[in-house]
Amino acid sequence: MEYKLGDKAITKKAHPCEKRCNEWEIIRVGADIKIKCQGCGNIIMLSRYKFEKSVKSIIPKE
Ligand SMILES: [Zn+2]
Repeated sequence: MEYKLGDKAITKKAHPCEKRCNEWEIIRVGADIKIKCQGCGNIIMLSRYKFEKSVKSIIPKE
């Protein structure tokens, strides 16, 4: 899977927040991945393995 900082990630499951958003911005790529919910702005951290398993598709920044 190819992704970089600033790309959008669409997850299989929606975030259980008010907006039930499944679109996230990738804000950190390292040993762990940090993504920000585009609905509520919450940031969560996942291992690469977990991230890649939960993502349906990546929308490149450009
Ligand atoms: Zn959310």
